[in-house]
Amino acid sequence: MALHEGPTKADERSLSVNPFYGDADPVSGMTEAPPKHRLPDGPTPPSTAYQLVHDELMLDGNSRLNLATFVTTWMEPQAGLLMAECRDKNMIDKDEYPRTAELERRCVAMLADLWNAPDPSAVVGCSTTGSSEACMLAGMALKRRWSKRTTDPAARPNLVMGVNVQVCWEKFCTFWEVEARLVPMEGERFHLDPQAAADLCDENTIGVVGILGSTFDGSYEPIAELCAALDALQERTGLDVPVHVDGASGAMIAPFLDEDLVWDFRLARVASINTSGHKYGLVYPGVGWALWRDKDALPEELVFRVNYLGGDMPTFALNFSRPGAQVVAQYYTFLRLGRSGYRAVQRSTRDVARELADRVEALGDFRLLTRGDQLPVFALTTAPGVESYDVFDVSRRLREHGWLVPAYTFPPNREDLSVLRIVCRNGFSADLAELFLDDLTRLLPELRRQPHPQTRDKGAATGFHH
Ligand SMILES: *Cc1c(COP(=O)(O)O)cnc(C)c1O
Repeated sequence: MALHEGPTKADERSLSVNPFYGDADPVSGMTEAPPKHRLPDGPTPPSTAYQLVHDELMLDGNSRLNLATFVTTWMEPQAGLLMAECRDKNMIDKDEYPRTAELERRCVAMLADLWNAPDPSAVVGCSTTGSSEACMLAGMALKRRWSKRTTDPAARPNLVMGVNVQVCWEKFCTFWEVEARLVPMEGERFHLDPQAAADLCDENTIGVVGILGSTFDGSYEPIAELCAALDALQERTGLDVPVHVDGASGAMIAPFLDEDLVWDFRLARVASINTSGHKYGLVYPGVGWALWRDKDALPEELVFRVNYLGGDMPTFALNFSRPGAQVVAQYYTFLRLGRSGYRAVQRSTRDVARELADRVEALGDFRLLTRGDQLPVFALTTAPGVESYDVFDVSRRLREHGWLVPAYTFPPNREDLSVLRIVCRNGFSADLAELFLDDLTRLLPELRRQPHPQTRDKGAATGFHH
């Protein structure tokens, strides 16, 4: 989490307490103003403490208007109730909470089936805090498999992927000392090129990451073509490079809306897949999933065992303690929606994205890079000839209306391109999309009248991380 520094002198003020927040005597409630950056000397009544924290949180953005995030911002009250009922259960205590453990196991089995594992009973998988942890685990499995087959002690492992990977893969490479070999963007190709990826592989390549879909523009990477390019590489050179599919978003979209797209365990080269239960898996943050095709794909040395019903249960995780509520909520959602329910939810989200993309394009000021027809996400930039404002101006002005739409610059070799990205999620209804479009439409005349783009600090404006 954020690496915070200690408080500065200016931070030494106390919290201010409204006299109403005190107990029976409002004045006594005021005499004890708790310090901000020191543990208070004594207790504060619960009602006062609640109100203070509640009030401070009013200034957070409204998560439903956050079109930057992929993470679920609405669930049914029943899911919230189950989560509240389970907040005291620690996921790691398999022996104490065997039913929670069982629900996790069923979720893994359902995902193995959903992702077309040829032998679902051979699949191994686990829940995680999100896709980032799942990607760390998958990357560690790839690295360990490589180190078991390498004979050169001085060899340095590398991982091949598109430059558009999510930041968790940069973290993986930094934390585990793996060289990141990045396929750049070229022209109108904003994600990995299969042949370019195969060309970067050598005997120290632990694997290739394919993304379904890219956080930059919502496009699916061509996983089947990637596997074919690596098959050809193997035929030519003997190198057998496994693929990990980062399906943080798309692994919960494609199975329902793009059934003919072959991207999953149907491809023999796909060793492992992750998804974020808290993105299009439709669960509040933080839950993710990592699945391996079979035991060979997940080296036994990485597996730790905990007590379970008189025996032991294998586990693979970075954390030890973790709440059980999200896993329970994932099981609830699987049970609640089923295949056709997920299909209906994802279809309506993608319909909203496509319709909104078309209507934004019709305004005439923007050029779409993607159209919301893969992930329900689209990226756009200003149309040629628009010179009075840029995407950073649009992002800033939308914020005045409460809409959070990030603007950012693309990575190599398209640093010249700056885009806006709109992520549609369940809960962003056609009605809300209409209101968004109204606000955007109303802003345009003013933006067009600007003498030039107003963004002063592009560095700060592009600090957005995916
Ligand atoms: C969101 C995302 C991640 C990180 O997932 P978290 O669940 O936020 O940890 C990794 N890869 C891709 C492609 C993503 O979209």
